Formats: sequence, structure tokens, C-alpha cells
Amino acid sequence: MTGAARFRTFLDWSVERFGRPLHRVALDAGSQCPNRDGTKGFGGCVYCDVEGSGTGAMRRGDELALQLERGLARIARRHNAGPAVAYFQSYSNTYVQPERLDLVLATVEPHLGRGVAAVSVATRPDTLPEGALDVLERWNRRVPVWVELGLECADDARLIEINRLHTVSDFVDAVARTQRRGLLTVGHAILGLPGDGREGARRTADTLAQCGVDGVKVHQLMVLRRSILSHWWREGRVELLELDEYVDWLADFVERLAPHQALHRLHADARAEDLLAPSWTPHANQVRARLERELARRGTRQGTLARG
Ligand code: SF4
Repeated sequence: MTGAARFRTFLDWSVERFGRPLHRVALDAGSQCPNRDGTKGFGGCVYCDVEGSGTGAMRRGDELALQLERGLARIARRHNAGPAVAYFQSYSNTYVQPERLDLVLATVEPHLGRGVAAVSVATRPDTLPEGALDVLERWNRRVPVWVELGLECADDARLIEINRLHTVSDFVDAVARTQRRGLLTVGHAILGLPGDGREGARRTADTLAQCGVDGVKVHQLMVLRRSILSHWWREGRVELLELDEYVDWLADFVERLAPHQALHRLHADARAEDLLAPSWTPHANQVRARLERELARRGTRQGTLARG
């Protein structure tokens, strides 16, 4: 946390660690998901759309190397050539043979030290075999690698209900195995999942604090057009958080994280054509400012209620 800030942002963390802000280049490596092809389940997590929570670039025919080059060029134009995180976002990126994962990561090779300063690999906690960790550990000797693992909520019954189909202990185990390899970890959470409630948001933060992930991404539940959740929403089975309510729950969540855990994300947005609800999509600065105000009103900060 810098100065009087009441929570630790990704910007704080990246300046501390890399000396400059990092900018993400979201990449679609054409991976798949075991929760869509029947290995774990069919249909995917209820909130996930057909792009696997990613950009859909590969489906549009954009090769990985080209995606990265375009992303780096965009950053160079907008951010005065600031360094980037190559973010392998879509689907479950370790749901491939180790050789394939190695090949995917090799896309960053020409840009190491010249644009790409770190690599982030998103996956499911129950889809992280030791062979994948071997590959990630090798790459981590050349460029900092962090593994982004979805927890979403810390309640096994909810994880079944939302068709996520892994357990909380799968997540805790994946974090521990990733940390043993010297890799950074980022845990992903969604506030407002059906049936999870405000207590659920607090429980999720407690779990993330206790297992000691280095970073946290958290956002509000959104209903995307091509998701299972869109049917539930049309049937009136989904209650979504209003912005004020979300900030209130977010403050509860942040108070329970450990002070060192960097907040990589505080809300999500989606393309207007993909988003059914909620109708509010604030700018990141607006959420940050509101969270800061709410914590100041309470006289608390990140870590005030941490049990980790
Ligand atoms: S959110 Fe991730 S794990 Fe769930 S269906 Fe989408 S790609 Fe698969």
C-alpha cells in the first residue's frame, strides 16, 4: 500500500516489483476447458460465456504471436512503451500436454526484456498437473510467471450449484503446489454468486487470505448473453448487486485480505453486446474511489479483519 491508501493495488505492487506500472496483454492460446468438454462437466461454469472468459481472438483467426505483437504495439502507443504482462486468459491454459504449454509460452520469447516483463497463466485449480508446473517453473527462471487460479467462492455446495465442479480444497492444494515451485499465485473471486450472499464474500476473502495467494482478482457477478446464467436471469432466479451494495461487500472482502495481497482487479466489465446485466459498469477509478471512501467511513483498511 502506498501512503495513505487503504488497500494495495496492482499498480502499487507492479511499481514496487518492476519499477514501473505493468500493462496486461490478454491472449487467447486456443486452449480448452475440462468443464466444457465433459472431462469435468458440460456447459461450463454458469457465468462463463462461450469464449471461456476470454477474448475469443483465436476463434476469430488471430494467431497467438500476432495477438501479442498487436497488444504490445497498442501499449507502446498508449503507455509510452511501458512493460507488459503476457496474460494467457481464455479457458484453462494448463489443460494441455506440457509440450504444448511450453510452445504456447515460447510466444513471449522474442519479447523478453523488450516489452514483456512477466507472464500470467489462468487455469482451474483442479487442472494443474505436475508436468504443467515443471514447465511453468522452468519459464519462471527466465521471466516472472504467476498462475491465476479461480476459486470464485469458498463454498463447495455453491461450487456445484454454479457448475464449477471443483472444491475449495482443490484450490488450496493448487495454491500450495504452485507456491512450492516458487511461482506467484493470484486467486480469482466473484461476489454475488447465486446463494453465496454477503457472508459468502467474507468467507471467500478469509480463504484467500489464509492460503496466502500473492494477488487477488475480484469482481461483481455479471450476466453474459451466451452463458447458462442468462437463462436463470430471464427466469428471475438471479439477484444482482447494485453498485452501492457491491462496494459495501467489496469493503468487507478487502478488510479480510492480508495487507500484502495485491488487488489485481476490483470489478469487471464486458462488451456491451455481450452484457445483459447489471446495467452499471463503472470505470475502474470509480470503484477504487468508492472503495477508498467506504473504508475511510468505516475507519478500516485491507487487513483490518484478516485472520490469515
Ligand atoms: S470459467 Fe473457466 S473453468 Fe469455467 S467454464 Fe469458463 S473457462 Fe471453464
